[in-house]
Amino acid sequence: MTIVVKIGGASGNRTGSVLDELAKHPEYVLVHGGSAEVDRLGAGLGRPAEYYTSPSGVVSRRTDPAHLEVLVYALAGKVQTELVAGLGARGVRAVGLSGVDGRLLLARRRTGARAVVDGRTIHLTDDLSGTIERVDVALLATLRSAGILPVVGPPAVTEDGQVVNVDADRAASSIAAALGAEALVLLTNVPGLLERKEDPTSRIARIPRDDVERFLPLAAGRMRKKLVAARDAAAAGVGRVVIAPSDLADPIAHALAGGGTVIA
Ligand code: ADP
Repeated sequence: MTIVVKIGGASGNRTGSVLDELAKHPEYVLVHGGSAEVDRLGAGLGRPAEYYTSPSGVVSRRTDPAHLEVLVYALAGKVQTELVAGLGARGVRAVGLSGVDGRLLLARRRTGARAVVDGRTIHLTDDLSGTIERVDVALLATLRSAGILPVVGPPAVTEDGQVVNVDADRAASSIAAALGAEALVLLTNVPGLLERKEDPTSRIARIPRDDVERFLPLAAGRMRKKLVAARDAAAAGVGRVVIAPSDLADPIAHALAGGGTVIA
């Protein structure tokens, strides 16, 4: 069974329990973000993270060349290496790949990124972020048929070899769609999409796949990107997308049993 599991991102995610579950399901695919680690490393290197808001209100990480360098160190370097080591310790043969390896995630560089600064819109000409256009499914299939669990994270690469940042939820969504996955599980630090962001009891349990648009206004910040990525995976034929909490004993099983917010 093809199930793509994505772990974040924000600190507080309990990755140990996710790795324990993957050890029982080496046929799954793991996708990771790690924005907290990028921020931590950037601060340590004297390059603190910067975020900007687009004219349409979407918040994105600033990825000029100096920040992209930190992102590569943190994600393709530390976060991914530790995940692969953790799986290895559990007896899983795992291989870490950024989207650059084997051109697994081929992207188009985003041009014309705009930021609102002090009420004025400016162009970010040095932004190195991209939109995923193609996933090399053959590479993933080769690994999986050899019993190897792929661990995939940003960055991605363009046709002409430019390394670009891509959103990890979006990467997971594209990978799940390309693999024709039965399910995509997006683990996060909240119980799911919440009707009221501050109220953890206000979880929305189910969203029909054609109805996601109606729920988008509830989601702010990074949850908005997650929901859009979930919508696109569902629209591309992924059977079920679940946005679910990672801070419990068996987060993947919990998500697949209907925990969190199910988009189907
Ligand atoms: P990741 O684990 O992928 O890094 P994020 O932390 O970036 O996930 O995204 C989840 C965050 O989105 C939550 O911590 C929460 O603060 C925010 N959020 C905004 N709106 C909502 C909402 N309606 N329901 C749940 N979370 C929301």
